[in-house]
Amino acid sequence: MQPLYEGKAKRLYTTDDPNVLRMEYKDEATAFNAEKKAEFENKGRLNTAITLAMYRMLEAKGVETHLIDQVDDINLLVKNVDILMVEVIVRNIAAGSFCKRVGVEEGVEFNTPIVEFSYKSDELGDPLINDDYAREMGLATPEECAELKQKALVVNEVMIDFFNRCGLKLVDFKIEFGRTKDDEAKIVLADEISPDTCRLWDIETGKKMDKDRFRQDLGDVMGAYEEVLKRVESAI
Ligand code: UDP
Repeated sequence: MQPLYEGKAKRLYTTDDPNVLRMEYKDEATAFNAEKKAEFENKGRLNTAITLAMYRMLEAKGVETHLIDQVDDINLLVKNVDILMVEVIVRNIAAGSFCKRVGVEEGVEFNTPIVEFSYKSDELGDPLINDDYAREMGLATPEECAELKQKALVVNEVMIDFFNRCGLKLVDFKIEFGRTKDDEAKIVLADEISPDTCRLWDIETGKKMDKDRFRQDLGDVMGAYEEVLKRVESAI
């Protein structure tokens, strides 16, 4: 069966129900806008299980997501939403592109989280944008930008607390949102929440437990993902 859409880490398939899609998690990993690529056995399974647990945890805290159900180890059923072409990044501690862009040292803790928008475009390498760009590019209205920011900050608060219970510091993360296709046209959390999309540092040792192990060739990438899943499942 041909996927409806194939991304870097997932494939989306239609189902018998036009309102429902099947999201399959791949073992492929990419970094630096797909310049660096590798395949990790079990990554799809680990990210499926972590996303599922995170979505269920967030739903229980009142955050709506596109999750419907699990199909198997690497497949989730999700609502067929219109994905907003704005990625929302929340940063609690300086890392990654933030450090590169402004010359701040990795590890500096922010007093208040930073929320960033980027334009979801592989071709352009997901460039940083702001509310004015989003408005003029027709990506999101000013009201929608405010809603995305407010929702992302709620997700951040809930996840900081949850990962804390896992012995992990939530450094930063990227989330995406979709609009439901029913009359309500609600904005709900979509895509994934995993060590591919969050930076997580062990509270005790400072060890990086996320995709930076791949980006920076730190080794034992899947060992770290496995450990994240173990801690997430025991904190649920
Ligand atoms: N991120 C992501 N997808 C992207 C860009 C970023 O999931 O296309 C996540 C990344 O894993 C990190 C956070 O968003 O947890 C902030 O990433 P950053 O802007 O520092 O970019 P990077 O260092 O990944 O280039």
